[in-house]
Amino acid sequence: ASLPAREQALIRRRQQALGQAYRLFYQQPLHLLRGEGVWLYDAAGQPYLDVYNNVASVGHSHPQVVQAIARQAATLNTHTRYLDEGIVDYAERLLATLAMPGHQAMFTCTGSEANDLALRLASNFTGGQGVIVTAHAYHGVTSSVAACSPAFGEGVALGPNVRTVPTPDSYRGVAGEDVATRFTHDVQAAIADLQRHGLRPAALLVDTLFTSDGVFADPPGFLAGAVDAIHAAGGLFIADEVQAGFARSGSHFWGFQRHGVQPDIVTMGKPMGNGHPLAGLAARADIIDAFGSRVRYFNTFGGNPVSCAAGMAVLEVIEQEGLQHNAHVTGAYLKAGLQALAGKHELIGDVRGAGFFLGVELVNDRQGKQPATAAASRVVNALRERRILLSATGPAGNILKLRPQLPFAREHADLLLDALDAVLAAR
Ligand code: PMP
Repeated sequence: ASLPAREQALIRRRQQALGQAYRLFYQQPLHLLRGEGVWLYDAAGQPYLDVYNNVASVGHSHPQVVQAIARQAATLNTHTRYLDEGIVDYAERLLATLAMPGHQAMFTCTGSEANDLALRLASNFTGGQGVIVTAHAYHGVTSSVAACSPAFGEGVALGPNVRTVPTPDSYRGVAGEDVATRFTHDVQAAIADLQRHGLRPAALLVDTLFTSDGVFADPPGFLAGAVDAIHAAGGLFIADEVQAGFARSGSHFWGFQRHGVQPDIVTMGKPMGNGHPLAGLAARADIIDAFGSRVRYFNTFGGNPVSCAAGMAVLEVIEQEGLQHNAHVTGAYLKAGLQALAGKHELIGDVRGAGFFLGVELVNDRQGKQPATAAASRVVNALRERRILLSATGPAGNILKLRPQLPFAREHADLLLDALDAVLAAR
């Protein structure tokens, strides 16, 4: 089926007005007009099951969040240089979820800015510049953070201060070596390499679900040795929770908590405002003190009253609707269903992840584990034809990435599993 004339015209106008840097999803791009709960609706009024967005997260256009934004926008919106109860209430409630007394909050508008600020804090505190990230990490778009994001590929050079370590890959690891031992060893080697080049380590920066590396959640605890290593070298541990945070991993509110480690800095964004641009970080007070005493930092939109109202409403909804528990139990149900499909379909090499962040790795042969990149693209597009939205990730783009809205229920999981079963059978 070809696209309707209205969408074809919109694509032409979009290319003209926005240019080449913008990319659309899908062979048949999707024109969405409305969202509600786990559903998105296209221009013809057709519903699509959202198994992908981790921006809206407590449900599309959640009324409680919409009302909080509207109420505050109709009352007052300024910046953070006037006294305001909203930002303090929100910071206190947010910090309580971290359960690390002594951490303080700073707010930004994007996850990239949060990571950028985290690197500035780390560099200022440690006096170092060296940053360690994983081999296919994505941490954002500012110059400093893009230079720590190998996921961009050849178009963006890594910084001379940046070292990569192999992905803590539980599927393709070296035989006989466990993920924790290997990851710790790799981080130690990267620290030694920085030092050999006269660079003092400032930070180990990781996405705690390793989502752009291909979704690696297990075994819980594998980060602990690497965190000890960076601390021993005088560097900080920055947990990038932009993907993993806000109850997504189900068993815990934050991804790092699955590993029993204590980050010096936690960065966050995406689901934080359920689509409203709200991001930020929590850092040890002494780290913020050392920065604040030297730098006058002000982020015009970060932490404004409307953003804080959105963020507060998100925290309330997660708690009131038991969404972390749902991510835990329905996520386990969905994962078990995917594992059952792996029993039927040779193409599925591995099913992994935590809560409502799951990866399904497609391989051409289970022995050689050759990435089934083309097949993954076919599956993503075929599911879109069945009005189910997900995508693929990892260096070879062969890992289906499932990130449903947190209220996703068993009936929705069943719809997805049936469609995936049919799509895989039809190949
Ligand atoms: N960190 C991670 C792990 C991310 O996935 C992203 C966004 N995909 C970012 C940081 C950057 O966030 P933003 O797009 O809000 O700048």
